[in-house]
Amino acid sequence: MTDLLREACLIDGAWVTGDAWITVDNPATGETIGRVPKLGAAETERAIAAAEAAMPAWAAATAKERATVLRRFFDLMMQHQDALAELLTREQGKPLAEAKGEIAYAAGFLEWFGEEAKRVYGETIPGHAADKRIVVLKQPIGVVAAITPWNFPAAMITRKIGPALAAGCAVVLKPASQTPFSALALGVLAEEAGLPKGLLNIITGSAAAIGGVLTASPVVRKLSFTGSTEVGAMLYEQSAATIKKLSLELGGNAPFIVFDDADLDAAVTGAIASKYRNAGQTCVCANRLYVQAGVYDAFAAKLVKAVEALKVGDGMAEGTTIGPLIDAAAVAKAEEHVADATAHGATVLTGGKRSDIGDRFFAPTVLAGVTQEMLITREETFGPVAPLIRFETDDDAIAQANATPFGLAAYFYARDLSRVWRVAEAIEAGIVGVNTGLISTEVAPFGGVKMSGLGREGSRHGIEDYLEIKYVCLGV
Ligand code: ADP
Repeated sequence: MTDLLREACLIDGAWVTGDAWITVDNPATGETIGRVPKLGAAETERAIAAAEAAMPAWAAATAKERATVLRRFFDLMMQHQDALAELLTREQGKPLAEAKGEIAYAAGFLEWFGEEAKRVYGETIPGHAADKRIVVLKQPIGVVAAITPWNFPAAMITRKIGPALAAGCAVVLKPASQTPFSALALGVLAEEAGLPKGLLNIITGSAAAIGGVLTASPVVRKLSFTGSTEVGAMLYEQSAATIKKLSLELGGNAPFIVFDDADLDAAVTGAIASKYRNAGQTCVCANRLYVQAGVYDAFAAKLVKAVEALKVGDGMAEGTTIGPLIDAAAVAKAEEHVADATAHGATVLTGGKRSDIGDRFFAPTVLAGVTQEMLITREETFGPVAPLIRFETDDDAIAQANATPFGLAAYFYARDLSRVWRVAEAIEAGIVGVNTGLISTEVAPFGGVKMSGLGREGSRHGIEDYLEIKYVCLGV
């Protein structure tokens, strides 16, 4: 398929296999793409040791030297954008155009953090005594463990390894077993970019075994995880004994509010982008659409029309806008949310069932008459189902939007300036999209509040999570 496909893991600069394998399939067709090694504790220990050994020379290199390697890594990703996107679509399912977009977005983190490496400024502080000078240094935190999910098989990796490598850290990465080939392809390109061996180790295999060793290791000083809240909480607990620094990017339950002064066409465009991108499988996807009573019917009609224009299909096929869901469980969850909502009084405006083109496809759906008590408003659907909830007042919308333990992204459409400020400030979320459904970029801080996680990825803040502060008190 492409010379970037590797059926081996990367440990200390060597491509290694084992006795057991994990088969990777194409969610659109069920066809096997290939297999990756099922490694475990012993190989993870080796990878940690390799990272520990490789890190001092890398940390001692100048920021410009590290930035040069990251820049080459970025250039190589962009040179291979088409091949990487094709690999991504085959293992993950998203439409090829979205996959190409993800590769550019992913590469952007390498470029951005390479540039930021040069701006890891310390501080000087006026001394507290006449014979004291105070200097604050920022230094790489140590060996970093990264555990990543399948929904963005390239971008969730670069936004961890980009800042880690830029800061001078070495990494042990465990990608999701559903989408390991995108990760391994990045390993190929990192080598080609001239990243010294041992700085990026990639291990596929048993999540529990690998995660157990990574969290227990005193050498690993930082864990960056993107995935479910359940697994994130478990890793948090496992990391307690060694007091690791954690970045956790966990589940969301994003509200999307349409106020009565909104530009309804723009709101529909935003809702389509936010809700149906990646077939609804992003942690910032709109999960609950609150629409003010005066514009509810008009918005619903426009949204249904736009949703009915979406094209479900294999992500490799021309014109596809909605690909398959990742697995059978994902389809079952979408189905369960629709069934629960309709059993409690919601109505299906369009879709509402599995698509007949394959067993992992779900028809893009709009539900009306949804209420706060239904499963679909309480849990993240992670599928192409938009529930519409009617509201009357601004306070009511804000209260309902915040009635969740999660707080990753939130969106709203309104034009009155004071309303825009009031709502933006009142929403409990780490990211608020106002009159836009797309908020992801490497230049902005991405992350959640409440049970959606810890830390920020991207922007100048994203590198801080990989740095320790050292204060030097100099007696003169
Ligand atoms: P998702 O619902 O997105 O698959 P998960 O939290 O299950 O979310 O998976 C995200 C990442 O966490 C994947 O790489 C997965 O293999 C990994 N993972 C799952 N269980 C564990 C575990 N017990 N320890 C460490 N990593 C895990």
